[in-house]
Amino acid sequence: MSGKIRFAPSPTGYLHEGHLLSALYVWAAAQKWDLEIHLRIEDHDQSRARDNYVQSIYQDLARFGFKWQSQSIQSSRTSLYESALAELEKRNLVYPCFCSRKQLEAENPKSETGEIVYQGKCLALSKTDSPIAQDVPHNLRVIVPDRIIHWHDLRLGDFAENPKQQCGDFPIKDRDNQWTYQFAVCVDDMNEGITHVVRGEDIRNSTARQIALMELLGRTTPPVYMHHPLIVDSSGKKLSKREMAHSLRQDLESGISPEQLLGNVCFKAKLAPTTAPLPLEKAINLVAGLL
Ligand code: GLU
Repeated sequence: MSGKIRFAPSPTGYLHEGHLLSALYVWAAAQKWDLEIHLRIEDHDQSRARDNYVQSIYQDLARFGFKWQSQSIQSSRTSLYESALAELEKRNLVYPCFCSRKQLEAENPKSETGEIVYQGKCLALSKTDSPIAQDVPHNLRVIVPDRIIHWHDLRLGDFAENPKQQCGDFPIKDRDNQWTYQFAVCVDDMNEGITHVVRGEDIRNSTARQIALMELLGRTTPPVYMHHPLIVDSSGKKLSKREMAHSLRQDLESGISPEQLLGNVCFKAKLAPTTAPLPLEKAINLVAGLL
């Protein structure tokens, strides 16, 4: 094996067709590039994660025949996140932010993608030595360097992005004391020795900030990245759990075969000309042919 790739679903709902497509890309990349597969359950947001969804991820992937070599779950890795945070704190790279959502909206500009670009108001606050009232809700932000990150996507080409201008200093722990996705994923990708990241295009904007944060945490060679196209619904919007996208579990339980679901997904993703049933191996080969 020449490296390690991960599949990293969040257990905040049942898996849907979007996950199935992502899994096909991950397993295809692993086959093509001879990588070990790691299954990471991204339950960093304990207010939304549910144990039955965690169990359903293991079960549903197994029903399709997906196999992985190792697995982890973020809720059991708190001490790693704590020590990464302590490392950043030691270097004065973290500060509490007391801004409410309303203030954030009113006081900061937006990037061209519509994201709030935090201007560092609370950084100035902590510099004036104002006492941090621990009972006042706050998040913790990391100070990101003001510089362009150059990175390459195997499908989309070269990017030059400055996280300071995309989003500004971003939260690594939220107001509810939960580790953020950006922070947990960086610590995990580093600590779990992930060499390849293949995931949906909707997360592409996170890549430069993740590379910047990993650099602060000491990883100088970032993973190889590839962001795959998403399946869109009939109105052109991506599928999401929030919008109650149909779950694979519902379909499996209603008697639709995994092969039929794979055929449907490959058709919707324009990988196959029809919805004819596809065995897993064939579906993976189809995607591997695109890499
Ligand atoms: N947990 C994220 C999701 O469910 C994936 C994050 C990633 O691959 O970096 O979409």
